[in-house]
Amino acid sequence: MAFEIERIEDEALAALPRGAKVSPAGLRLINVTYVGFDGAAHEGRMICAKSLAAELTLIFRELAQAAYPIERIALSSEFDGDDDRLMAGNISSCFNYRTVANTDTLSLHALGRAVDINPLYNPYIQKGVIMPPNGEPYADRTKPFPFKIDHDDLAFKTFAKYGWKWGGDWTDDVDYQHFYKPEARIVRAVRRI
Ligand SMILES: [Zn+2]
Repeated sequence: MAFEIERIEDEALAALPRGAKVSPAGLRLINVTYVGFDGAAHEGRMICAKSLAAELTLIFRELAQAAYPIERIALSSEFDGDDDRLMAGNISSCFNYRTVANTDTLSLHALGRAVDINPLYNPYIQKGVIMPPNGEPYADRTKPFPFKIDHDDLAFKTFAKYGWKWGGDWTDDVDYQHFYKPEARIVRAVRRI
């Protein structure tokens, strides 16, 4: 398994607009191994906040070691930052310089502080609208289906162990794919691994 953290040398890689609230120096490219829906190991790239790169690498290492299924990890820039395409294609990703859907609020994805996991099976439900639309069969969380993130799910447990929060715990506009870390603080628990 390969887990590496690299500086971002190419500004285009981070797709930053003029006046962005984050710079390539504040971001890192992480290379992780993950286990796909085919049960095989794959390599994926993510961009995340520099301060979160080490623990995110550990989180994905734990998930890969447990063969937690993730269909595909890719950079949002491979989809021109189009979150609808990322979600519909079930792409797991982190950095994307964008606002929260249908708002002017900068998303924590724009700061590399949020990760979406298997978004098709774990849709974002905003004012009753299911995103992505093809995630509709997975909006009813009382139903059993594969790749569902809930409190018993290993991704939830692993992100929570490192102090990340989950959009599935929100009371309205629930975002089942979304793990995030709002504060810039170092989680010392990572040292125990
Ligand atoms: Zn998200």
